[in-house]
Order: sequence, then C-alpha cells, then structure tokens
Amino acid sequence: MRRRKTAIFFLVTGICLSVLAIALNVGWILLSIREALVLVLGIIFFALIITGIILNTVFLVREIRRSEQHDTFLNSVTHELKTPITSIKIYLETLKNREVPEAKRQEFYDTMLADSDRLLKTVEQVLEAGRAKEPRRQYNVTELELNEVLGDAIDEVRTRFSLERGAIRFTPGSEDPIVLGDAEELKTAFTNLLENAVKYSDGEPRLSVRVKQAAIGKSATILFRDNGIGIPKSDLKRVFKRFHRVPNRAGGPGVKGTGLGLFIVKNIVERHGGKVSAESKGVGEGSTFFVQFPTI
Ligand code: ADP
Repeated sequence: MRRRKTAIFFLVTGICLSVLAIALNVGWILLSIREALVLVLGIIFFALIITGIILNTVFLVREIRRSEQHDTFLNSVTHELKTPITSIKIYLETLKNREVPEAKRQEFYDTMLADSDRLLKTVEQVLEAGRAKEPRRQYNVTELELNEVLGDAIDEVRTRFSLERGAIRFTPGSEDPIVLGDAEELKTAFTNLLENAVKYSDGEPRLSVRVKQAAIGKSATILFRDNGIGIPKSDLKRVFKRFHRVPNRAGGPGVKGTGLGLFIVKNIVERHGGKVSAESKGVGEGSTFFVQFPTI
C-alpha cells in the first residue's frame, strides 16, 4: 500500500515536472523567437529533459513493482516451506509422545509423505526457476511422441490429486506428432499447467487436453482448457512473468503458490522452439492455455 502511494507520488511528480517544463519552454520560445539556433538547441535540450523525466518515472515505478513482487514471493515461499514442515513436526511429536493405533499411524505416514512431496516440489520449483536462464544447461534431447508425454503428465496429475478418470478429458493428436525435446522438461511443463487447472478450479475440476495438428507446416498445438476461476484480461500476459500471481483472487487470499510455475512453463516451451499463451473470457469463465511446438 505504502509502495503504491510512493508510485503515485512519483507519477504525479513526473507529470507536474513535465507540465512545468512545457510551460517554461513555451515562455522561453516566445521570448527568444528571433534566435533560431538557440531555439533549436533549446528544443533539443527540452526533449532530453522530458525524456529523462519520463525514463526516471518509468524506472522508479518498475523498481517499486519489482520489489513488491519480491516481497510477495518471499512471503509465499516461506509459507510454502513452513506449512509442511510444521505439519510433519506435529505428526512426529504425536508419534513420539503417544500410543497411536496402527491405522492412524499409517494415515500419519501418508500425510507426512504428502507434506514432504509438497516441500520437495517448492524447492524444485525455486531451483528450476533459478536455472531457467542458464545458458550452458545440459538437455537430454530425443525424438518424443507428444501424445505419450502428455498421457504420462495427465496420469501423474490424476494420481496426485486423486481425480476420477472423467475429470481430465484427453484428445490426442491423430497423426502421432513427434517433437524434439527433453521428456522430463516437457512433462514438468505439462504437469505445471494441469496442476494449475486443478488448483484454480471452481469446485469439481473439469479439464480437457486436446492436441491439434496444423494443416500447413509442421507444428502441433496443445489446448489445456479448464472450468476454473478464469484470469482477468489484464493478467493474461503477466501470469508468465516470474513471481506474478493474480491479486485479489476469489475466496480471499486463495490458493497458495510461488508465482513460478508459468514462468518455468514459458521457459521450457521457448527452449523447445515453441510458444505459450493464455486465454480466458474473464473471471469465473475458465481458462485455456495454448502450447505450440514445432514437430518433425
Ligand atoms: P502459482 O500457481 O504458484 O501462483 P503460476 O506461475 O503457476 O504460480 O501462476 C501464476 C498465476 O496465474 C497464479 O497465481 C494464478 O493466479 C494464475 N493462474 C495460473 N493458471 C491458472 C488457471 N488455470 N486458472 C486461473 N488462474 C490461473
């Protein structure tokens, strides 16, 4: 809130300074109308000052926004790490200090395993995001059947969220599209998109995954469609930025996350020569993510 006020202050200051500079310049032009050379120099100088003021304002606003995003990121990562650790600790203490019946004990173990998975996932996401722009990264590139990699990712998400079979409808590409890529990386991108579709669903998740092959040229587009809470128009591009989370989601603070998932997806897809984009008719209207890859 304080930062937003500061941003508004800088914007207003920038606008006031620009108006002042214009007024000064117009007055000055009127006074020295006969001295053409000085006039030209003055105009150039004036343009430079205005550019400087605009750049300064843009830079400040951007810096403020960036530091705001870092704060949000730190808060969400800390939360994502602390919650499962606290939960594991409570279960371990209970197991240590009390007689727990066997069935309950098994239930505790399952919850602790789920919590450690959550911990590992957060740590992996942070590491993956950090490595995203590494230029000398090693990849295990092979010829991959897109339908198969997608099928694996869908099965993984079905199991992870205990979804019934009908929750994710899959229409594979009819001509077995082949892409050149790293199977693990592509699976990470697909599971991130599917997990989001489940996480941001409104009640029972209903997803559809469809592979469409281009009639001309060699490419395949995968459509990940959900019936979830949707994405406001103004955030459709921004969701792919590092740390960006749509603010004021329905249901209060909403689903927890780090704002790294889609950034990782974009990086993986672009490294494979592909493109990713999002579409949504608006809040509450579901979302569709399009991933396009060149095929061979
Ligand atoms: P995280 O889920 O950890 O917040 P992501 O980078 O995966 O981070 O997503 C960024 C933001 O985009 C999310 O916070 C959410 O607001 C929005 N989002 C992503 N996928 C969906 C979806 N399928 N439906 C609605 N909103 C989504």
